[in-house]
Amino acid sequence: MRVLVTGAAGHIGAQVVKMLREKDITVRGVDAFTDFYSIEMKKKRVQALGIKDIMIVGDISDLIFLQDLFAEFKPTHVINLAARAGVRSTWDQFDLYNQSNIIGFHTLLTTSVRYKVEHFLFASSSSVYGERLTPPYKESEVLGIPKSYYALTKLANEITAAAASSEIKTTGLRFFTVYGPWGRPDMATLQFVAAGILERTAILTGDVGVKRDFTYVADAAQAVIDLLDRQTGNRFEILNIAGGRPQSLGELLQILAESGLEVFTNGGKLSELDVPLTHGSTEKLAKYVPALPSTTLRQGLNHVIDWAKSIPTTDLTNWVVPPPIK
Ligand code: NAD
Repeated sequence: MRVLVTGAAGHIGAQVVKMLREKDITVRGVDAFTDFYSIEMKKKRVQALGIKDIMIVGDISDLIFLQDLFAEFKPTHVINLAARAGVRSTWDQFDLYNQSNIIGFHTLLTTSVRYKVEHFLFASSSSVYGERLTPPYKESEVLGIPKSYYALTKLANEITAAAASSEIKTTGLRFFTVYGPWGRPDMATLQFVAAGILERTAILTGDVGVKRDFTYVADAAQAVIDLLDRQTGNRFEILNIAGGRPQSLGELLQILAESGLEVFTNGGKLSELDVPLTHGSTEKLAKYVPALPSTTLRQGLNHVIDWAKSIPTTDLTNWVVPPPIK
């Protein structure tokens, strides 16, 4: 097996590459080191996880780059995690989403078909579920119009991958709030932990009642790796990558306080692009992987706190930029 992971300097991608390498699987990582958040943080992440030497800098929307890479590396499996993430975007930012999530996705998928890759796995998102569904959300759910442009691009990816499954085996991974050490600085977990350590007020972008199905990054990465060699199911499958236990931002703050990190928040209100609850059914995933995500939010948060305390506070300050107060 020869695995190509895109978005490999990102939160989930770096963890997947690290774990594949530890299993002695031949792997290469690709990343464009975009400036959605600190480029320096991405560089330090790949360094810290010991994957710098197998990283290739490049953009998945660059066909010539991909053709050269596929001709040289000859991947048998592709895991596409490269994307512009985040649901809270405005019309003037949609070009950035198109470049990575639509054009990039398409270029990578068609190149994978051309080079007869055995299995193409890609990141979708829990955001495709939107709201007004009965939790826990099942993959079989008929979905409506997405709330955010980001979710729309992910839904488009799923439809494209379903169509391409006549040519190539494809698996869409609907990730639910993946967090952990070296996590994404725009997400609540790292925003709160940094605020606690740096003794500043955390800006809430939703109210404390908002519930998320928090999934620990090593559990999410393990599920992706377990699915690499998927032999059962249809040629196109969609799977929730979730812990299946939603918890509120209030509970998250409570756990941080019990772990010695008091975080003061500035009350916020839910963005109309965001949803009050995410809750993934893990029933289908359980049929495909030997073990479901099991790290509790308390255990995971303690890993995040330990990590955040282990890096220089100047890095934490520079990387975790608070969102604007609305
Ligand atoms: P991330 O932003 O940390 O990682 C994405 C990486 O992709 C970045 O390092 C970025 O530089 C790279 N990238 C972006 N556009 C690229 C391009 N055109 N070519 C090459 N590289 C490019 O995000 P993450 O949290 O690790 O998410 C990984 C994937 O999972 C994304 O597709 C994201 O949409 C999806 N996802 C994540 C979560 C979560 O909770 N973290 C939830 C749902 C879905």
